[in-house]
Amino acid sequence: MNTLETTVRYVFLGAAACFVLGLHLMNSPRTARRGNTLSAAAMGVAIAATAVLLLDEGDITGTGWLVLVLGGVLGSALGLYAAQQIEMTAMPQLVSLFNAVGGGAAALIAVNDLLQTAHPESLGARITVPGALDIVIGAVTFSGSLIAAGKLQGWVPGRPIVFRGARGLDVALPAAFAVGTLWLVLDPQGTGGLMVLLVAALAFGVTMVLPIGGADMPVVISLLNAFTGTAVAMAGFVLAEPVLITAGALVGASGGILTKLMADAMNRSIAHIVIGGFGTGDAPAAIGPGGAPAQVRSLSADDVAIQLAYATKVIVVPGYGLAAAQAQHELGDLAALLEEHGIEVSYAVHPVAGRMPGHMNVLLAEANVPYPQLKEMDEVNPEFPQADVALVIGANDVTNPAARRPGNAISGMPILDVDRAKSIVVVKRSMGHGYAGIDNELYTNPRTGMFFTDAKKGLAELKAAVRQFVV
Ligand code: NDP
Repeated sequence: MNTLETTVRYVFLGAAACFVLGLHLMNSPRTARRGNTLSAAAMGVAIAATAVLLLDEGDITGTGWLVLVLGGVLGSALGLYAAQQIEMTAMPQLVSLFNAVGGGAAALIAVNDLLQTAHPESLGARITVPGALDIVIGAVTFSGSLIAAGKLQGWVPGRPIVFRGARGLDVALPAAFAVGTLWLVLDPQGTGGLMVLLVAALAFGVTMVLPIGGADMPVVISLLNAFTGTAVAMAGFVLAEPVLITAGALVGASGGILTKLMADAMNRSIAHIVIGGFGTGDAPAAIGPGGAPAQVRSLSADDVAIQLAYATKVIVVPGYGLAAAQAQHELGDLAALLEEHGIEVSYAVHPVAGRMPGHMNVLLAEANVPYPQLKEMDEVNPEFPQADVALVIGANDVTNPAARRPGNAISGMPILDVDRAKSIVVVKRSMGHGYAGIDNELYTNPRTGMFFTDAKKGLAELKAAVRQFVV
């Protein structure tokens, strides 16, 4: 190893340390932005160091460099554009598409390396087995993430899609993985094993995600994210690139932990989710405000404002509708007004509220909500009985007491105990369903009042109305 190679290896080690540190900084919303920047900068430095090494080795042709540079510039520009332009509400689809790109790239790396290697005699099981794993996990992630993105975007129906023969495929396709891997080990440079693995894995990604229902999508996205990391780590083994192994292992492990935490939060086992059948996906609104059932109590802005102005303790429950309405700033303003008048305000954050992990945290941080006011489910649930008002804004499934009963799409999912507050106010546009597509029993609770409005408009009205009543 010459001096340049040694230096580059040290740079890789430094980059890997920065990834770990970056991940640690993401523990808190206060330092998360710094963690993200540090990890991205470390990856930039690692890429630059690799380029220097490749230049020194002189293995890449002029056309090769053109493809590398063009690909890098185009990919970065597209990624930057997508991340800046995307609406917060469409973030899960974007994450899913990024997972697809990551998984697909990792699979292609293995295909290319196995086909192009200059030393076929070196392709022992030590390389071909991680290569096969890379292709399988990467291709499953690619097709699975595309289906997940399609479901989230509404291009593919969100309900579980089960077709005849699906169970048979669940057995046949993994068997094809075993055959393809064996084939690859025996004939590392032949295309037969590669094709079997690619086709079976792409099909498996589709058949794995189609039967998963809307309400379980957060866990699936997180699982596919973990898959992307694992595929990248496997690509690192194929290429003998420690920086890929480290970065991939970090994504794989953290994605795996997040998947487990989210599955626990929904009281599901990961296996159960992947086998499918839960979550019925989006369904049309049950009844509009005009035709609401008799037991639903409708409130005006003034009715709600009086309750808020005379409360001592208010717990705000944000949900997907807050994000859809982009009403976080109006909410922050209303909460600040209540606090100015000595009313205690806190926010109850359910782990799967919104449409992506941490959605509510990001949204509330955008509105500069003080971080200590954000409370996780376990911490806030015992506080609901003392709350004078639970103010539910665009949240539905995460508050639905039906989850405590068996036999429905959200059975067993821990919920925010909003129905235990002294008074409940729900701000949403209609009696429409949430993501799981079922009626919410909270709305017919005698202590619940519905303020039917768009969250942004309604919160602005509430702020004006509260001013009349606070002293
Ligand atoms: P829900 O999807 O259950 O409900 C959102 C509610 O917001 C709807 O009932 C809708 O009612 C209301 N709404 C929509 N737009 C507006 C608006 N402009 N103003 C006011 N209200 C509005 O949201 P939750 O956050 O309670 O639950 C999240 C659900 O999404 C869970 O089922 C979860 O599993 C799933 N999910 C979560 C992901 C994650 O990672 N967090 C990813 C994918 C899915 P109306 O139409 O009447 O206004």
